Amino acid sequence: MQMLSRTLAVVVFAALTAAYSGQIPLGSPQGVSENQDNVPGFHLDLDDLRLVQFSLDAEPEWMTERQKLQAKAKGQDYMDITNTPFLGTGPKKPRFSYPAPNSTIVAGVLSHLSTVEPKANLQHFTSYYTRYYNSDTGKASSDWLFAKILAYTAELASEEQLPLISVESLKHPWKQNSIIVRIAPQDALDSDPITVLGAHIDSINRADPFGGAPGAGDDGSGTVAILEAYRALLVAAYIPITPVEFHFYAGEEGGLLGSQAIASSFEAAGKVVRGMIQFDMTAFHKAGTREEIAVITNEDQVDAALTEFQIQLIERYLDIPWVKDIYPGPPGPSSDQASWAKAGYQTCHPLEGQFKNANSHVHGVEDIIDISPEFSFDHMLHFSRLAVAFAIELSSY
Ligand SMILES: [Zn+2]
Repeated sequence: MQMLSRTLAVVVFAALTAAYSGQIPLGSPQGVSENQDNVPGFHLDLDDLRLVQFSLDAEPEWMTERQKLQAKAKGQDYMDITNTPFLGTGPKKPRFSYPAPNSTIVAGVLSHLSTVEPKANLQHFTSYYTRYYNSDTGKASSDWLFAKILAYTAELASEEQLPLISVESLKHPWKQNSIIVRIAPQDALDSDPITVLGAHIDSINRADPFGGAPGAGDDGSGTVAILEAYRALLVAAYIPITPVEFHFYAGEEGGLLGSQAIASSFEAAGKVVRGMIQFDMTAFHKAGTREEIAVITNEDQVDAALTEFQIQLIERYLDIPWVKDIYPGPPGPSSDQASWAKAGYQTCHPLEGQFKNANSHVHGVEDIIDISPEFSFDHMLHFSRLAVAFAIELSSY
């Protein structure tokens, strides 16, 4: 474990916020036209050539960072595979089947969950001007989260649990770090199947990447939901039989950058993943609709068997119903589970509601906690429950 001075992060953040106030972003809604040198706090080379894949079966194309951002502004999703062109070309991964949920301890752990910490954490997490992955505030937000996880761990882990936990802040070729939290039993083998829970920590203003992007729903809500699940595992002194990892990905909005880097390193190391679940947007309950969890079924991004297991978890441990839904529109990866699916690992993905009812305020300055009473920490809590259930059920054998 690495210690980082929280005070330092706060001081840096304060200085940066001061620098930003009054600054007029130079990107235009029609497309990004100015270069990074004019925008303090950002580290974007708009003329950089990137290799971009618009869907899992599409041929990758070369384009500039500027063209990539213009595509994003038009609502197109993609993977930027410049640094990870060989993801998914490794040996075939083992396929797991999933016995019905049968844990006797999940229910007890669920009682430790509450909305108190997620509220406070998201309040802070949305206070950064943007968590854009190639910005100084994006970096500062990841440093803060790292310090928060270290503090939870130091404060809450049992004596027996503490030596089994590692917290890693992972450097990338861009500013923001990803974070990997691992709880593994003492006798863990490299060949043990790993259970992975993910969320992305970056945000973006799609119309103007230099603009503000508090990212409350996308994906601050997923980040604090799985952080709360981790906190509950600490309070419960949970020790798994096989490793469980919480992944906080940098650069999802840049084209699934952090998750691809980590999935690639798993593949290169021959690691086995029992199941990966991605939490991306967990807070919005649209007024006048039934409160439910959408289970995403896009075949190129999720595994049918793990998705069925996810449904069984919802039925056993949650008191709201599920509904199957599919991301509509042009084919493109919806979130980081697509990186793991591309690598050949089994994935699933719950969403805050049916796509048509999801938070429409994302990807800009309106993605804040109090945009509407529909932004609900109670709704988010269902996703923390699902995360606890997923973590324990799959790492208990
Ligand atoms: Zn997202």
